[in-house]
Amino acid sequence: MRKPGLIICLVSCVLASSGVYGGEALSKYPETVAVLQLLYADESKAMQSYWACAEQAHKEKQFNIESFYASLAISKSIRVEAIGVMLMDMEIAPVEPAESDIRVSSTKFNLKLLTNIQLPKLEKRYPILLEHIKPEGHAVAIQNISLAWKVDVQHRELAEEILSSLESFFGIGAKIPDAFYVCQGCGSTVVDVPDLTCPICEGPISDYVQADAKWRFNRAIEGNELLSDQEKAFAVRMYDYIYAAEHDQEEIELGAEAFKGQLYVRWGLGSPREFCLCEKIYVAGLEKMSQMWAGYNSIDADDLDEADKTFLKEMHDKYGDGPINLRREKGKVPAEVLKLLDMVEIVSGRTEFEDQDLIFLRALIGS
Ligand SMILES: [Zn+2]
Repeated sequence: MRKPGLIICLVSCVLASSGVYGGEALSKYPETVAVLQLLYADESKAMQSYWACAEQAHKEKQFNIESFYASLAISKSIRVEAIGVMLMDMEIAPVEPAESDIRVSSTKFNLKLLTNIQLPKLEKRYPILLEHIKPEGHAVAIQNISLAWKVDVQHRELAEEILSSLESFFGIGAKIPDAFYVCQGCGSTVVDVPDLTCPICEGPISDYVQADAKWRFNRAIEGNELLSDQEKAFAVRMYDYIYAAEHDQEEIELGAEAFKGQLYVRWGLGSPREFCLCEKIYVAGLEKMSQMWAGYNSIDADDLDEADKTFLKEMHDKYGDGPINLRREKGKVPAEVLKLLDMVEIVSGRTEFEDQDLIFLRALIGS
């Protein structure tokens, strides 16, 4: 039999390249360790390749497929982490895969490749790997690899659905979901969040996070340690606003200096890379955005001048005591006013305006 022979060869290769051994675990679970190292490298490479495919889909303006690939990459990052933790628990350092070129083709071809490559892996490789490690009885590893198998089946099925949708009627009216959900426990990837528990790992459905075409921005902001949680949420709302209007925007070019300086360091998106139009619009607006944030947070509702107090009184006389929703105003709200309301909502994070929000609105009207 060729396949098991291949695995044994890979196993010894991985062991030979393993720098750090947890002596006890290695003598007790040699095959399990080798298979985990193998999968660790595989999943790491798959993660990088899916990120690259997401970027390719973005270039082709296939934003829904970009979301799909982002969800796969997030799922793979969860798998990589899980395998890493298992190895570390055995006091064995995971071996990072050697740098290799990530090659991507057109989005359609990438999808075809995904469905073709996955099939033999799903039908043959996982069963062989599991058979191989079962005699050693490492229950956690066996369960983890079984979950990975199920998750890969999901990935392939989703890819097939998207591909057939793209191919029917030459992709005209192709129905591809614009967001996917990934279980943070096991990497399960779905279009609709399950009702009760994760069908793969039986964890709570609150573990499911959304992956959409804004992943790149969200990831950068999430990793920005200079921002508080409120500031991150504000930046994400700002980006959502820019993103929603992307189709009306014209291409802009930013000079290298836009990515230097304190403002970019504070609110920016990390090391410069190939930014998409929405990200460039966000960076171009950083000065205004940070002024907005500072202005809003400098409002002290207990220390207002007479003009502000009068404004608040007029608003409450007209709309009542509680928080005020100005979008419910009867008649057509002019577009310029709607834009100001958008800004207040972005900075405050609410549509029912408190006094601080109303004062900020007044300042925007004044400016
Ligand atoms: Zn799960």
